[in-house]
Amino acid sequence: MRIDLLTIFPGFFDGPLDTSLVATAREQGHLDVRVHDLRDWSTDRHRSVDDAPYGGGAGMVMRPDVLVAAAESIWNDLAPGEPVQPPLHVAGGERPRTVLLTPRGRPLTQALVRELAGEDRLVLLCGRYEGIDERVHELVATDEVSLGDYVLMGGEVAAAAIVEAVVRLLPGVLGNAESAVQESFEHGLLEHPHYTRPAEFRGHEVPEVLRSGDHGAIAAWRHERALERTRAVRPDLLEPTDGPG
Ligand code: SAM
Repeated sequence: MRIDLLTIFPGFFDGPLDTSLVATAREQGHLDVRVHDLRDWSTDRHRSVDDAPYGGGAGMVMRPDVLVAAAESIWNDLAPGEPVQPPLHVAGGERPRTVLLTPRGRPLTQALVRELAGEDRLVLLCGRYEGIDERVHELVATDEVSLGDYVLMGGEVAAAAIVEAVVRLLPGVLGNAESAVQESFEHGLLEHPHYTRPAEFRGHEVPEVLRSGDHGAIAAWRHERALERTRAVRPDLLEPTDGPG
């Protein structure tokens, strides 16, 4: 899979992209990730990417000319400044899934992560300041995604979360593919508790059943605990969803 990250803080991704499974996925060729500085598409000598909001109000707004030009270049594998004609053209047809990170977007869930992990290419566009000009939402975004119901300073943390969550689902990335299907949210439940040695630690014992070797009893115990935890912390996950069937 290829992921392009568009940001005004390219250095932000140095750690997340060079750590743990993401670094390994890159080394092993499962992931081609490219970080782009949005300022490279700015056309003024201050390399500005923002301007004052129409209608007044606090904060600055990210400019449509800069962000749309960046998306067009990246869709077509062109360098900043190379013209794209006609506007919004995408070589070879459809534009790649282009995700704009925004608090007003669709919440990032494991179901959405799975959907994104099925793509060949992703483009993740990180906002800053007061937000992004609405024309960028209209012209380039195929998706708007939110990390949660809170406001971050920028989209970089949300983009890094998408990269981590997506990359671990790519074929060949997780050592044990089973662990990806047994996790929280994959069956509509939070995950059961885990234990390792020692069997007793500071007065807290590993449940007997996990030491019994009875795989049926272990599976039943884990399911019960997962249900219990979900009921207590995330009852919304147990509510029936709308839709066919
Ligand atoms: N004024 C905006 C609002 O009220 O929705 C918030 C702007 S925020 C300070 C700047 C940028 O951070 C946004 O453009 C977006 O890219 C990113 N951001 C903030 N919170 C986010 C969230 N929960 N999920 C994804 N991106 C977020």
